[in-house]
Amino acid sequence: MAAESKEPGAAWHIATVASVHDETPRVKLFRLNLPESLLKRGFHAGQYFDVRLTAPDGYQAQRSYSITSSPDQPNLIELAIELIADGEVSSYFHEAVEVGDRIEIRGPIGGHFTWLPLSTKPVLHIAGGSGIAPIMSMLRHRTSSESRARALLIFSARTEADILFHDELDQMAKSDPNFNHIIALTRGAPQIWNGEDRRIDRPMIDAAISTLVGSEELPDRAYVCGGSDFVESMGNYLLDSGMSHSDVRTERFGP
Ligand SMILES: Cc1cc2nc3c(=O)[nH]c(=O)nc-3n(C[C@H](O)[C@H](O)[C@H](O)COP(=O)(O)OP(=O)(O)OC[C@H]3O[C@@H](n4cnc5c(N)ncnc54)[C@H](O)[C@@H]3O)c2cc1C
Repeated sequence: MAAESKEPGAAWHIATVASVHDETPRVKLFRLNLPESLLKRGFHAGQYFDVRLTAPDGYQAQRSYSITSSPDQPNLIELAIELIADGEVSSYFHEAVEVGDRIEIRGPIGGHFTWLPLSTKPVLHIAGGSGIAPIMSMLRHRTSSESRARALLIFSARTEADILFHDELDQMAKSDPNFNHIIALTRGAPQIWNGEDRRIDRPMIDAAISTLVGSEELPDRAYVCGGSDFVESMGNYLLDSGMSHSDVRTERFGP
């Protein structure tokens, strides 16, 4: 267990579970009401909280979860927790956590993987599975702040049933001419992406960049989030395409 530091956000606070929702067969959404002590702090889209569970015998387990809700709802945070087979903390959330439960949290944390609505630059988002979580906060904040910055999301999910926030993303794309999304399914039919059966690959990213900024330009910023292998390969595609390390922001969820 990491020692507590005196950094801002390092103290533990108690949040209360306001709602639990089955978003997909493997992901539940948990809305937590923040305590008074955290209300003034606010958060940036892309940040995360640490969550700590304590067993009756004192054993503790701590994990990080990105905020999916928008910063303009400062009194609550929504977390999208994927059930990991034999996962200590995700299993507890899926099997035991109920409305009204009190959960220890610490945060918000993170400064590199954040997006501010002041930015008007075109942004490419690439998400794998639950890696959509911090990007969803950015997209929701984009909508609520009426940002006109162009944005394109490439989202990889296993099957159609596993597409998190599917209706909301479709609605965003319908109502905002500056936002497009592409969903690539890795298992099962039908595959979405020109009707082809494929994972996200280099030609798909090149075509997305062309749609976003034209074939001669590069996006000003890319946010890539998901499992380690996914982030590694997507990050490498973007660096190979000419984007700089500082413009490719990554967050890794998995081992
Ligand atoms: C900054 C940050 C933000 C995160 N945000 C989210 C989020 O928004 N939603 C979310 O669901 N998770 C998120 N995670 C991952 C989360 O912190 C946990 O690692 C995850 O929930 C697994 O914890 P567990 O206790 O259930 O599994 P553990 O008991 O830690 O692990 C059980 C087994 O599963 C493997 N494993 C662990 N994590 C993963 C994974 N992600 N995919 C596949 N196998 C895994 C382990 O290697 C181990 O073999 C985030 C991680 C980081 C670092």
